[in-house]
Amino acid sequence: MSRLAVVCGGSRGIGRAVSHLLAQRGCRLAVVSRNKDAARTAVASLHGGNCDVSKEEEVQKTFETIQKTSGNISYLVNAAGINRDALLLRTKQEEMVALLHTNLLGTMLTCRAALRSMLRTEGAAIVNIGSVVGLKGNAGQCAYSASKSGLEGFTRSLAKEVASRHIRVNLVAPGFIRTNMTAGMKDADGAPSIPLGRFGEPEDVAQAVLFLLESPYITGQVLVVDGGLQLAM
Ligand code: NDP
Repeated sequence: MSRLAVVCGGSRGIGRAVSHLLAQRGCRLAVVSRNKDAARTAVASLHGGNCDVSKEEEVQKTFETIQKTSGNISYLVNAAGINRDALLLRTKQEEMVALLHTNLLGTMLTCRAALRSMLRTEGAAIVNIGSVVGLKGNAGQCAYSASKSGLEGFTRSLAKEVASRHIRVNLVAPGFIRTNMTAGMKDADGAPSIPLGRFGEPEDVAQAVLFLLESPYITGQVLVVDGGLQLAM
């Protein structure tokens, strides 16, 4: 049977591009996001779940359903994420909590929910989506950046924890990618600082995700996909 891939945040943007690429590679897809209909229609997925990744019970139930109906999970991609740009002095506690809960806790919960199933599959792999901002920091994004830096530590630690069970865990750190998240930005705002001279497309990130999922001897690594932006930060 073909591999089962779960893509959290697969209803649009980067997650949607990853879902399409994995479907092209012959994977069976379970797409998870808060909006059930968007998740279902993003790609011809087996499971379009309305699941908020920051809610433990919803995550548990969703992953149980996926495994019951579709079998063991080979690949997990964590692309569910939110962003709120504001200086720290203007960031409310509930905004900090929402960012940490969705971006960091959400990834921990989905990884935990998928692991037992992944132990039973050969070549199982997880890719989490971080950000160059998590590696380099950015004024006006303290809380977002903290959530993404946390993902780096989490990814490396989990990679060590499950390596003996042959599950690989890696992180992709995108720069500016053209999705809903950057919809308010014009090329003039960011592109001049990018050595390759353009914003990335979701498909640029999807290729890197696919590479890490399919590379049998890479684990605990961070792959930056930013058109060289990090070089200039
Ligand atoms: P989009 O806003 O286009 O997509 C975000 C996805 O996450 C949607 O599918 C959304 O679906 C889902 N999502 C959001 N919150 C939750 C939640 N609580 N539970 C389940 N699903 C959720 O953003 P991008 O595609 O740009 O972002 C994808 C990832 O890439 C994020 O982690 C983001 O931080 C990261 N990233 C993006 C960059 C960019 O420039 N675009 C740069 C660096 C990193 P729904 O609303 O239906 O829940």
